Amino acid sequence: MKLLPLVFIASVGFFETSAQLSNRAVMDLKSGRRPDDTSYVYWLPYAEDTKFLLIQAANSKMSHRNELSLDFKMRTGSKICAARDGIVIEAKGDSDQGGLKEEYLNDGNHIIIRHTDGSIAKYWHLQKDGVLVQVGDTVTQGQHIGYSGNTGYTAFPHLHFQINDAKGKQILTRFFTRRGIKYLRPGNWYKCVHD
Ligand SMILES: [Zn+2]
Repeated sequence: MKLLPLVFIASVGFFETSAQLSNRAVMDLKSGRRPDDTSYVYWLPYAEDTKFLLIQAANSKMSHRNELSLDFKMRTGSKICAARDGIVIEAKGDSDQGGLKEEYLNDGNHIIIRHTDGSIAKYWHLQKDGVLVQVGDTVTQGQHIGYSGNTGYTAFPHLHFQINDAKGKQILTRFFTRRGIKYLRPGNWYKCVHD
């Protein structure tokens, strides 16, 4: 889709808004770019040169309707890698329970990493014993930190990835992709590239 500059201007305020996305903002995201964007550029949260299908993201009609999380469909046991440098502040890897029942809500294996700007990244639904880091560990961008799985509240094997800013607000972030630096759109495959 070809977007007019007007659309870009109209959506500059996007990051100051809540998780609710206006149609304008979503149109802008479909271009994968915003003007004068100085936000941090993440690496995709899996191994370099591997690619996965993004099935949920902003404006998805599925369960993340008003969230800004990313869900990558992923065979259990796929390598999960740090999307950015940070320190592990939460890690759980002892669960083998998962499914679409509320009783599984607390059973999701996961890693939470805090970055230098106070934002955090959450990597969720990891495989049992598929967490390779501990609370307090320093991790570097691209480091292999775990294996994907299907634990917790989940319908199928996937990685749930989300970023919250220092105030706890969920935000969208951009990534290096084969086609340049982009905000991601559901329905596309994204290969992890490091620049
Ligand atoms: Zn999810």
